Amino acid sequence: MLLEIKDLKKHYAVRSGLLKTQRGIVRAVDGANLSVGKGETVGLVGESGCGKSTLARLVLGLEAPTSGEVLLNGTPLDQWDRIEQRRTVQMIFQDPYSSLNPRWKIGSIVREPLDIHKLGSPTERRAKALDILRRVGLGKEDADRYPHEFSGGQRQRVAIARALPLEPDLIVCDEPVSALDVSIRAQVLNLLKELQQEFGLAYLFISHDLSVIGHLCDRVAVMYLGRIVELSDRASFFHGPLHPYAKALLSAVPVPDPAKQRSHALLKGEPPSSMQPPTGCPFHPRCPEVMDICRTTRPDFLEVESGRSTACWLYTPQKD
Ligand code: SF4
Repeated sequence: MLLEIKDLKKHYAVRSGLLKTQRGIVRAVDGANLSVGKGETVGLVGESGCGKSTLARLVLGLEAPTSGEVLLNGTPLDQWDRIEQRRTVQMIFQDPYSSLNPRWKIGSIVREPLDIHKLGSPTERRAKALDILRRVGLGKEDADRYPHEFSGGQRQRVAIARALPLEPDLIVCDEPVSALDVSIRAQVLNLLKELQQEFGLAYLFISHDLSVIGHLCDRVAVMYLGRIVELSDRASFFHGPLHPYAKALLSAVPVPDPAKQRSHALLKGEPPSSMQPPTGCPFHPRCPEVMDICRTTRPDFLEVESGRSTACWLYTPQKD
């Protein structure tokens, strides 16, 4: 497996006052399990604040976990050489404008990873940067322009180009199309698909938009309050999600054919605070299918059908 995330936790102490007294703990990621295979796209969905972006930062090694493991090609992340790890995993951010240096020309931005790692001669680096710009749909002349001279969709193409020179195996995409106009989104998603086929890339694709996930992903992971609560292949997920939270998310996605409207399982209330998660199943205060055991005992994340896992007592044999 290219990427394995095992019981990963990231907790932050909340301190206040002159003496910085600890007031509590935010459980941003609280026992997440996930894997991404070579050349695969796994979509990660959930409401704002569920821990998706923190999980991405842990995968990139930008933060150390409180406990648990991130394995890249079977080796724990903390045993990787930092330079090799950067070559293996790259990132595309939501806002291409703030992630691109406004004072640099596009050619220099795309060439920078090659310059840092001193890969090839200066002429070879320039040629490679131009070739990558061509592959993302930009011209040779664009290399001498600045980020502010591009539209939002073009800037995101530049951000994608910048992730490619080191030939990564995995790209973590954090809401890469949510800041773009709807008309541009499909173009950028299709570009990501084409590049995946050409370079054998794997994506961990973070989004709150299930229609985007359905367009691109092989498997869908649903995150709630720091944990993965469902992991299914795309067809099974969109045909019938397992977890009540996943059902509610999917029922909110508009269906073009009114005759095929899904039944609406509306989400009640706001997500609870990750400083004070509910006892038992963290979803129980909002769950339409809640049972007594849900209020007291947290269900494990288990495979309940071939290739499908969930953390829900509806699918787990209850112990006597
Ligand atoms: Fe709902 Fe219980 Fe399943 Fe949690 S464990 S999602 S409360 S049915």
